[in-house]
Amino acid sequence: MVPPVFRFAPSPNGYLHLGHAYSALLNFGRARETGGRLLLRIEDIDATRCRPEYETAIYEDLAWLGITWNVPVRRQSEHLADYRAALEKLSALGLVYPAFESRAEIARLVSAREADGPWPRDPDGAPLYPGNARSLSTDERRRMIASGAPYALRLDMAAACGRVAGLTWNELGEDPDGERGRVAARPEVWGDVILARKETPTSYHLSVVLDDALQGVSEIVRGQDLFHATSVHRLLQALLGLPEPAYRHHRLIRDGEGRKLSKSDQATGLRELRAAGVTPAGICQLVGLGQVSLGVSQTPP
Ligand code: GLU
Repeated sequence: MVPPVFRFAPSPNGYLHLGHAYSALLNFGRARETGGRLLLRIEDIDATRCRPEYETAIYEDLAWLGITWNVPVRRQSEHLADYRAALEKLSALGLVYPAFESRAEIARLVSAREADGPWPRDPDGAPLYPGNARSLSTDERRRMIASGAPYALRLDMAAACGRVAGLTWNELGEDPDGERGRVAARPEVWGDVILARKETPTSYHLSVVLDDALQGVSEIVRGQDLFHATSVHRLLQALLGLPEPAYRHHRLIRDGEGRKLSKSDQATGLRELRAAGVTPAGICQLVGLGQVSLGVSQTPP
């Protein structure tokens, strides 16, 4: 049997916190208990928010925790051509269109539509795309692009879902109240998601799906905040003819008020905890993992 492949995929737009430690330790533990490999991927497509010092800190903090990974590290910013090729494939299927509204215009359109009642929102709470760029003619699109107008490339969700119906995924997640086993994907709840922007030929959804396939990742261990995004990922995998990995969405580490941790909250940052004298074993305990085997034996939360 081919050994399983896992990955930890942080974005270098801030310092790692206890939530990242939990995710990285679970991945490392799964790789060890299955004789698999753990890969590290730096998700740095957002050039405005990612910084080299955060990337350096990721390597340092993971090494301090005792986590090792297989090299090479994949840095998404070095693979834009791969994402462009995938985007072209989706465009050739007629599933991608340019939308020219700015964020402010989108907000205006949404409030105009809300005059008639609530406008649907995606699982992250963002309003679905309210515009009508999908119906612009080829000539209008050409003219707008030639004028230099900025745009986002969106997936025509209805057309995409029309091509591949009945998608599911294998959920191995730990949440006793969550869905497990074969879960039905519902990508339509996301509306016409952005796949790329004029200046960046990719997006989180597109690059994560492509990289997981190119890196041969077979089990994706990540936070429950990405559970619903998996529907979009399964759709893109199906459209691009990529293999289907298994998913293990894990509980989120929360602060004293029950909020998801944020990179700007110093109280739960690994650097701060380390400076305050907390040891790697202490971090394991803080996130509810058995301290000795670094994630191999998990104590219940
Ligand atoms: N880069 C994402 C993050 O830092 C994780 C992506 C994923 O695991 O699919 O939240």
